[in-house]
Amino acid sequence: MDIHAMRHSAAHIMAEAIKKLYPEAQFAFGPETENGFYYDVKIPDGAIREEDLPKIQKTMREIIKGKHEFTKKEISREDALELFKDQKFKVMALEGLLKDEKTVSIYTQNSFTDLCRGPHIENTGHVGAVELSRIAGSYWLGDSQNEPLQRIYGLCFETREELKEYKRLLEEARRRDHRVLGKKLDLFSFHDEGAGFVFWHPRGLSLYNLLVDFIREENIRRGGQEIKTPMVLSVDLWHKSGHYENFRDSMYFTSAEEREFAVRPMNCPGSILVYKEHLHSFRDLPLRLMEMGHVHRFELSGVLHGLFRARAFTQDDGHIYCTPEQMEGEIVSFVESIFSIYSVFGFNDVEVFLATRPKDSMGSDEVWEMATDSLKNALEKNGTGYKIKEGEGAFYGPKIEFNIKDCIKRNWQLGTIQVDFSMPERFGLEYIASEGERKRPVMLHRAVLGSLERFIGIFIEHVAGAFPPWLAPVQAVIIPVTDNQNGYSELIAEKLKAEGLRVETDFSSERLNKKIRQAQLLKIPYMIIIGAKEEEAGNVSIRLRTGENINGIPREEFVAVVKAQTISKSHDLWPEKSGSGSE
Ligand SMILES: [Zn+2]
Ligand SMILES: [Zn+2]
Repeated sequence: MDIHAMRHSAAHIMAEAIKKLYPEAQFAFGPETENGFYYDVKIPDGAIREEDLPKIQKTMREIIKGKHEFTKKEISREDALELFKDQKFKVMALEGLLKDEKTVSIYTQNSFTDLCRGPHIENTGHVGAVELSRIAGSYWLGDSQNEPLQRIYGLCFETREELKEYKRLLEEARRRDHRVLGKKLDLFSFHDEGAGFVFWHPRGLSLYNLLVDFIREENIRRGGQEIKTPMVLSVDLWHKSGHYENFRDSMYFTSAEEREFAVRPMNCPGSILVYKEHLHSFRDLPLRLMEMGHVHRFELSGVLHGLFRARAFTQDDGHIYCTPEQMEGEIVSFVESIFSIYSVFGFNDVEVFLATRPKDSMGSDEVWEMATDSLKNALEKNGTGYKIKEGEGAFYGPKIEFNIKDCIKRNWQLGTIQVDFSMPERFGLEYIASEGERKRPVMLHRAVLGSLERFIGIFIEHVAGAFPPWLAPVQAVIIPVTDNQNGYSELIAEKLKAEGLRVETDFSSERLNKKIRQAQLLKIPYMIIIGAKEEEAGNVSIRLRTGENINGIPREEFVAVVKAQTISKSHDLWPEKSGSGSE
């Protein structure tokens, strides 16, 4: 079954049902979507309301049961104008988009005929599971100057089970929304005073910094060095780099002492100035300069979406300067590092794409071909399967993109590595080769997690806010059963803090159950319950976030467990005991 034809056919069926219930209805366009279909409609002097959807759906079911054939006919544009004379949007389409066509095709099922290019399924009975989901506003041709329309959305899958599974995942996504969890867990906030910019709270920044520490360790372990360059740089530099020409609509500008500056949208030029400060020998290469680069990119307010799409974010950016001969080896080891780092977060399903030359690009055909080939060769050497994304490279070079799948089967693009022959040319980068002659290095732009902010958003949703012990902003909360244990609890807290654990105490006047519930809501991995028994024995009782209890163990044992789980970056809270940390 062709799912695309099926979904689009469901749109025709919905239009027929609407026409039956609202004979005056005017129809615009009704395409398929990635999980179903929609149709833009206009009910003169009226509207379809949410509570009308069930009856439209019921009528659709009857049409589906009727197994009516979809029949196609080619007719002249003039005949079509006559046939659709009561459908003003069809007339506008025939006189607009289709004005140069001699003939057009129409499809009929049961009592309904639509202007359509097709294709369609054989008969209405082949439509699987359908459910009308929601109503939104739209405009004719998507232009807010035009007539407003109603967009009726439907879900459509081959089977009931697939539709059910889709709805379950949708509900899961809603439950895991990082904007909601970010508030509940007190990680970050957004404010009108700086729309699109993240305000990190203590807990969120703790998580952010732990992530940065991890990336730094990985970078050093793999022979990288770290730099930090300015956020505001002269506009001349952005002209020279080509960013002004290709990126200025997304850039913020400022001026001082009658000079124009731009807030950086990318970190490359800063890194290049650092490279140019020395005359490098081939012996210094490859030079791997990493930067936690905070960048600003203007986005329209309508597309902002929490940490997923913000106007400023930090890239775990890096630039590798190497000889053309070293390039492939560098790409090979970068690809390896990607797979190893992603697995730490539980992202083991990684898809690889090779993005090729876009329409607006700089550099010669020859250079593009060479760069694309070296990326291909590196992937083949790694034995990594990949797909091609035609024309989706950066304006200065082709790139490899790494996509992960989260636990609710959504795809996210995270890391990239791109080959750039053009920036070294523009900036006159050089190194001294073995024979003493000056040569151009190749520049590789690379990022593992991409935007750290966005990555944190993705990870929050992946684990539903239940961070593994190594990333949990607060690893343990100490809860005395009564006020009598406050002193001993304080003592334990100090000892654990001295061991480097991130610990809080809950001395509030709430009842024990309420305190446990509160810690549970904050998804704190370990609750340390201190009663008279524990104080007397000089030990601790642990309640895990997963609900299990480990009673009366020495404090040192608890510290050892947390440290071991932290070092191994395990998602489990207790060795061979509790299940996953992503409940
Ligand atoms: Zn159609
Ligand atoms: Zn770069």
